[in-house]
Amino acid sequence: MFDLTQKVALVTGGARGIGKGIARVLGRAGARVIIADIDAAAGQACAAELGGHYLPLDVSRQADCRRVVDDVIASHGQLDILCSNTGIFPQCALADMTEQEWDRMHNINLKGTFFMVQAALAVMRPRGYGRVVITSSITGPITGFPGWSHYAASKAGQLGFMRSAALECARDGVTINAVMPGNILTEGLQAQGEAYLEQMKAAIPSHCLGTPEDIGHAACFLASREARYITGQTLVVDGGQVLPESPEA
Ligand code: NAD
Repeated sequence: MFDLTQKVALVTGGARGIGKGIARVLGRAGARVIIADIDAAAGQACAAELGGHYLPLDVSRQADCRRVVDDVIASHGQLDILCSNTGIFPQCALADMTEQEWDRMHNINLKGTFFMVQAALAVMRPRGYGRVVITSSITGPITGFPGWSHYAASKAGQLGFMRSAALECARDGVTINAVMPGNILTEGLQAQGEAYLEQMKAAIPSHCLGTPEDIGHAACFLASREARYITGQTLVVDGGQVLPESPEA
């Protein structure tokens, strides 16, 4: 287990699912954890359960993202780790997709990443220390899935953003990396329906879905001091789902 004592970590979309799994693992490693989420009731319950602190956030609003970082600095004096994890993934066939559906996806998943990371870097870079971990996905950067063209575009976009941003911060002691989850059992994934879950289980070599803490452990590594020489990179956590099988196997 990496040691995150003395570190302050902000996890967006941390009220449930993968964000909660990340918050739990970072807290166990000793970090003081702040959960920022649009769902106040779930966010407060999660903070109470994990011994953290909750801040309201709509990540698609730039002013909210800046306010959350200001609040973290006001209450904790520093921000060492940002896990920019918020994301939505409603399915919609391309033929039926409206401009509003496309924009909502990008406003939360991609623009929200830009807003949140930019706000965090404004306090991390002058201090000369920071760890940013973005939750992307295998869908988009590596694979596709029918009904998720807007989602896939947003998740691939996060990686392009991450690589260039990482280069801008490389001299400031700030690293920016991404985890790429496969299929992780969360409320958001369950909302895709039982048929989807069964199809995914069949596609995973171990036939078992991942847990939010599987992503938490990967994020904890990238958020650690020890990962100081890793930046602009991606870590796939998918139980081997995207590995091509050898024809001879
Ligand atoms: P989830 O739906 O279970 O949880 C998402 C959280 O984000 C919720 O607490 C929700 O209230 C919050 N949220 C939604 N809109 C928000 C907004 N505008 N501002 C602030 N908070 C908001 O989702 P999850 O499965 O835990 O996924 C989390 C992240 O992991 C997403 O970025 C998703 O794309 C990514 N991901 C998930 C999977 C998976 O299998 N679950 C796979 C690959 C990638």
